[in-house]
Amino acid sequence: MSEISIAEYVARILRALPEHVTLVAAAKTRTLEEVAQAIDAGVEMVGHNYVQEAQAMIAVLGARAQWHMVGHLQSNKAGVAAELFDMIQTLDSVKLARALDRRCAQLQKVMPVLVEVNSGREEAKAGVLPEDVVAFVREISRFEHIRVEGLMTMGPFFDDPEKSRPYFRATRDAFDRLAGAGLPNVEMRYLSMGMSDSYLVAIEEGANMVRIGTSIFGPRPAAP
Ligand SMILES: *Cc1c(COP(=O)(O)O)cnc(C)c1O
Repeated sequence: MSEISIAEYVARILRALPEHVTLVAAAKTRTLEEVAQAIDAGVEMVGHNYVQEAQAMIAVLGARAQWHMVGHLQSNKAGVAAELFDMIQTLDSVKLARALDRRCAQLQKVMPVLVEVNSGREEAKAGVLPEDVVAFVREISRFEHIRVEGLMTMGPFFDDPEKSRPYFRATRDAFDRLAGAGLPNVEMRYLSMGMSDSYLVAIEEGANMVRIGTSIFGPRPAAP
């Protein structure tokens, strides 16, 4: 990256975030050294998109942070994910909920999960449609070894973050409806939305958890 260090970027972001907002460092494609630097600078939660990448890093840095799954999770990887992560932010199917529940029961743990909302109604993206969130959570609330703690959304990408606002707002509306539904095993605490470009808009729309990669670690190298 440039002359500015990861530590300095982390410090700037932590200073810019209101106190009620939690930072999750998005670590995909980053090295162990880079993530360790971010943790040293005050990052307490690290998000991963891939189980294998997370596995290697958690083996070394595990005790020094909390680990969140923020990428799409296939149910056949749910067992490993249940062992590795402190939170799954991308719950999007009953099948995945069942697989996580089963493994967490064996591990005698209760996994905090966020339901991923497909706020942009994009064919190619995972997630539950905003209007289906309450019914979906009602269906999975019978699983006693996962606990719904909020919602997460990506939203469509725009060059102008202001264009993300309606999608953040729709997710916030779903959050409020779900909080009002009073379902068992549901404790609405986190609204995870906003990335490097869009987190200020997301916070204005109610986010209290932001997932930031580029603004901590610099631009990702282009895919080979
Ligand atoms: C990469 C990623 C982020 C962070 O994106 P940046 O633009 O690099 O800040 C946040 N959330 C998810 C799910 C991601 O995959």
